[in-house]
Amino acid sequence: MKKIAILTSGGDAPGMNAAIRAVVRTALKNDIEVIGINMGYEGLINGDFHPMDRRSVSDIIQKGGTILKTARCPEFKDPAVREKAAQVLRIYGIEGLIVIGGDGSFMGAKGLSDLGIKTIGLPGTIDNDLAYTDYTIGFDTAQNTITDAINKLRDTSSSHQRVSVVEVMGRNCGDLALYAGLAGGATTILVPEKKMTKEEAIREVMEGRKMKKNHNLVVVAEGVGGARELAQDIEELTGIEARATVLGHIQRGGVPTAFDRILAARMGHKAVELLMEGKSARVVGIKANKIIDMDIYEALAMERTFDEELYKIAMDMS
Ligand code: ATP
Repeated sequence: MKKIAILTSGGDAPGMNAAIRAVVRTALKNDIEVIGINMGYEGLINGDFHPMDRRSVSDIIQKGGTILKTARCPEFKDPAVREKAAQVLRIYGIEGLIVIGGDGSFMGAKGLSDLGIKTIGLPGTIDNDLAYTDYTIGFDTAQNTITDAINKLRDTSSSHQRVSVVEVMGRNCGDLALYAGLAGGATTILVPEKKMTKEEAIREVMEGRKMKKNHNLVVVAEGVGGARELAQDIEELTGIEARATVLGHIQRGGVPTAFDRILAARMGHKAVELLMEGKSARVVGIKANKIIDMDIYEALAMERTFDEELYKIAMDMS
């Protein structure tokens, strides 16, 4: 393998830069040329390429976002567009491609591998919604950002004896809500995987008040939604003042945690090793703290399992 390329795709996640750095430095150590592709699959189609040397990844390990930029490129679902992309890679003599992104990005990588391009996927998303891996790059930073926000909301909610309803990201995956809710000491956590009714959530709040709790923190996952309506209902039904906060894109930014940087380094290193071994259509993950790789088709077909044990612990703490 003489020349590889790397791109970031889908939503950005803290730690993507650390992964880019790991790929570039591992490849260069092994005399492999690295081409950076800007703007995900959009840049791939348009040939938005530039060579990456050691300096190009200096001073980025601590930076959120992605120096390669990212984009949503819906036309990549079209087989003719993917054929064009494969053609561009062949023209540039690129033998392997590393894609950092979520499940949508992996679908694109799968499509390219079907066309004979050696592709490796790295899980870069704050959502932690990929079933084959315990953690995705960016999840740890995002849960820490949310925990920090919960700490701040707790101060004001305690002072005013209000209920604070916090809506967090994660799409259909409740992991961010569950982990940050547990770390932040939430009264109750609403996730799409567990069908807690609004009435049940309100009952938890009322029980909390009966126990003379000053603060009441309700964490709602994006996949459940409706934080504002829930805050309104709590006020109307309990008479306790309630405020909703939708954290939004603040969760996607920030300095990556040491955990995310180390995960990114281990995964980026593994991705280059896999290409050097001539592997293709693989995704890199972590299971029981061991870096693993898996067939991309198998990984995408896997069903996520919700951590019932952690959920029970969180609920028992409230
Ligand atoms: P996140 O989880 O952060 O949203 P993601 O990778 O899942 O990341 P998507 O927007 O779903 O984000 O996908 C990123 C890009 O991957 C899309 O804009 C598109 O270019 C490509 N893609 C998505 N689905 C497919 C598909 N079925 N076939 C080919 N390419 C796809």
